[in-house]
Amino acid sequence: MTPVDLHCHSNVSDGLLPPREVVRVAAERGCKMLALTDHDDTRGLADAEDEATRRGVQFINGVEVSVSWGKHTLHIVGLGFDRDHPAMVAGLSTVRAGRFERAERMSASLAKVGIEGALEGAQKHADNPEILSRTHFARFLVETGRAKDTKSVFHKFLIRGKPGYVEHEWARLHDAVDWIRAAGGVAVLAHPARYDMGNETMRVLLTEFKRLGGEAIEVVSGVHGVHEAARFGRLAEEFGYLASSGTDFHATGEGARDPGLNPDLPMGCTPVWQRWLEAA
Ligand code: AMP
Ligand code: MN
Ligand code: MN
Ligand code: MN
Repeated sequence: MTPVDLHCHSNVSDGLLPPREVVRVAAERGCKMLALTDHDDTRGLADAEDEATRRGVQFINGVEVSVSWGKHTLHIVGLGFDRDHPAMVAGLSTVRAGRFERAERMSASLAKVGIEGALEGAQKHADNPEILSRTHFARFLVETGRAKDTKSVFHKFLIRGKPGYVEHEWARLHDAVDWIRAAGGVAVLAHPARYDMGNETMRVLLTEFKRLGGEAIEVVSGVHGVHEAARFGRLAEEFGYLASSGTDFHATGEGARDPGLNPDLPMGCTPVWQRWLEAA
């Protein structure tokens, strides 16, 4: 196991725990290096860093930027950037600005199948009013008996072609990479196995992301199985990417693993966190 976690969420986005609690759980699991990577928002980083320092965990600034790439939605994790950099601050604020209007359309889409009050229901679950996400709608749908848990919600609702899903324009890939790099960070393609694309499209993406300045891909992820980690470990080597590792923790019981520990990277991968170990 690797005591590094470079992808997890707090209640600043769609996780259930406050930033300090995420750090506490990770530290208790033996984590030595942690990045908090909330969706489109960095306001949890100061508390998380303070708590990590108290607990002797090396803290890395993080964020998970929502991106539209053609018809695909991608997630780009930024790591190790200056969280006060104006390009980053302004960029993230434009991404957040679209979320409320999208939530209204999601709610209208659910109303068409007889599910009323979804916007208000989702808002009750969102601690940060600027980050209203599908996860908050999923929690509302579980609460009102439409599915047994958040995972099963995403079979019947909130995915393309199902009630509650709406198209949305997120940041452009090159903008997200530019904000991260302008702020001195590393751009990482999050959970690549999660995207609904064939191998050829994935290779186009890996080529383009590299050209735009992307430096790493998540090889080990809480949403990857062993075969997916092996596949993306090979692709990282082939395309010259560093490898990242993160649980994508949101809440105990909602995902595969608690924050803190990840399986080791496959042989041949170069860890993206090497530079921060050397800096420490
Ligand atoms: P949004 O950024 O509002 O589109 O919400 C995306 C979030 O929804 C992801 O970060 C996950 O937390 C959650 N999500 C999306 N698809 C699934 C799924 N199939 N199972 C569980 N959670 C999902
Ligand atoms: Mn999420
Ligand atoms: Mn994601
Ligand atoms: Mn995530």
